[in-house]
Amino acid sequence: MANTPITVAHGDGIGPEIMDATLHILKEAGARLDIETIEIGEKVYNSGNSAGIAPESWESLRRTRVFLKSPITTPQGGGFKSLNVTVRKSLGMYANIRPCVSYAPFVDTRFPVMDVVIVRENEEDTYGGIEHRQTDMVEQCLRLISRPGCEKIVRYAFEYAQKNDRKKVSCFVKDNIMKQTDGLFHKVFDEIAPEYPNIENESWIVDIGAAKLATAPEMFDVLVMPNLYGDILSDVTAQMTGSVGLAGSANIGENVSMFEAIHGSAPKRAGQNKANPSGLFLGAVMMLIHINQPDIATLAHNAWLKTMEDGVHTYDIAREGTTKQTVGTKEFAEEVCKRIGQKPATLKAVDYKIIEESGETATKPLYTIREPQKKELVGIDVFVHWWNGKFFSAADELGALVEKVNGDGAKLVMISNRGTKVYPNGQPDTFCVDHWRCRFMSDTDGGTLTKQQVINLLGRFEANGLDFIKTEHLYNFDGKAGYALGQGQ
Ligand code: NAD
Repeated sequence: MANTPITVAHGDGIGPEIMDATLHILKEAGARLDIETIEIGEKVYNSGNSAGIAPESWESLRRTRVFLKSPITTPQGGGFKSLNVTVRKSLGMYANIRPCVSYAPFVDTRFPVMDVVIVRENEEDTYGGIEHRQTDMVEQCLRLISRPGCEKIVRYAFEYAQKNDRKKVSCFVKDNIMKQTDGLFHKVFDEIAPEYPNIENESWIVDIGAAKLATAPEMFDVLVMPNLYGDILSDVTAQMTGSVGLAGSANIGENVSMFEAIHGSAPKRAGQNKANPSGLFLGAVMMLIHINQPDIATLAHNAWLKTMEDGVHTYDIAREGTTKQTVGTKEFAEEVCKRIGQKPATLKAVDYKIIEESGETATKPLYTIREPQKKELVGIDVFVHWWNGKFFSAADELGALVEKVNGDGAKLVMISNRGTKVYPNGQPDTFCVDHWRCRFMSDTDGGTLTKQQVINLLGRFEANGLDFIKTEHLYNFDGKAGYALGQGQ
């Protein structure tokens, strides 16, 4: 069988050691790979490239479409972009898959029954990094969630569950608060779930869901969630298995996919031959499955499971009672190689199959293109930078000023401060900062506004010395409000 070209980056800190160990095991297991090596991380950043990756490296990634990557050290301070986020987003890696499994009783953990897979949305949410300072007191992060983004990740989660004989997919959102953004994620989940009648589905509000996951992980199987929740909860969940060094991750895109450990470059452990290579190794096992070398993935993964079971451990998981031999990074890889061909006796052995595109999967598109809906401008939120030196009971004074700009078909219906309605009839105890949202609607019931009316309105703000700092249009889509009410409106 022909070799598969892959791109490899050895990374920073413990990266080179864990990559050498991982590649050694893959080679001994018979992986059919043609490796192209690229340089990323510290060296590239320090050469003056603020992206941390050279232009020719992108060509390698686009050519091989498979990237096995060690962690890198992100330089602290301004000017440097996170390479991980850049690579994931630039190459459209929409799904981040993070299996977190307990290996009890061989690896010490308080959660002996745990086998969950976190499917984290990887391109959107607060990770857009669209942030602005708007007033003396307020910074904003714009959180964008798209329908195709939700469709891709939810579809991926159910397809993953189906292909891997998983029983349930749980959705974690906070749509009791973020009714528009997390509301869309939840809605898409509810639309797609019935297409998989054999897979149970459920939704949790992320706070109580996270509490359950952190105390009773046996309740869960596959989890799907927006980017930020997934980032946090997958680290928590990996650590619960015994060490963050035990979890691998796959970043799946339509064209290019990347496989890595979930942990960072652990600079304090660098060059000591101590780090656990298991996270990167398990990422590499996912890569072998992805490139359709399930035979090698099975051989290598079973040898690794047997090594865990034999109590051959790196320092991070070494415990009295479970560990028989504490070894370094290189020696650990050697021990895994010695066990190639063996299977674990107690832990569940793996048996990966060739991926065949079933007709059914092929007919289900990752995302749908919908007819545009009828969009009507029914109002506008004008945000104002204003401060009269008072944190309490300032809103009526601003209200009186803003009422003056009413007219030409637009009328002020409320003012809110960080989302809470404070005018008219605000509560004197609401704490207010210098960032106000003034909501204007058409002054005829159910009426609309034109863009010209909006421009005229802003002209009146300017003429009245009111410092508007941004606007948000209020649209109805097919007659349904596409905006949230203010808290208390
Ligand atoms: P880290 O994951 O590197 O380390 C956290 C802790 O876990 C440390 O105590 C470390 O010793 C331990 N640890 C991590 N991996 C281990 C392993 N394989 N074996 C044994 N112990 C291990 O997180 P950090 O210290 O917050 O970050 C260090 C650097 O890594 C930072 O520059 C950060 O930006 C970067 N980082 C990179 C990635 C990536 O490249 N994917 C991910 C996270 C952090």
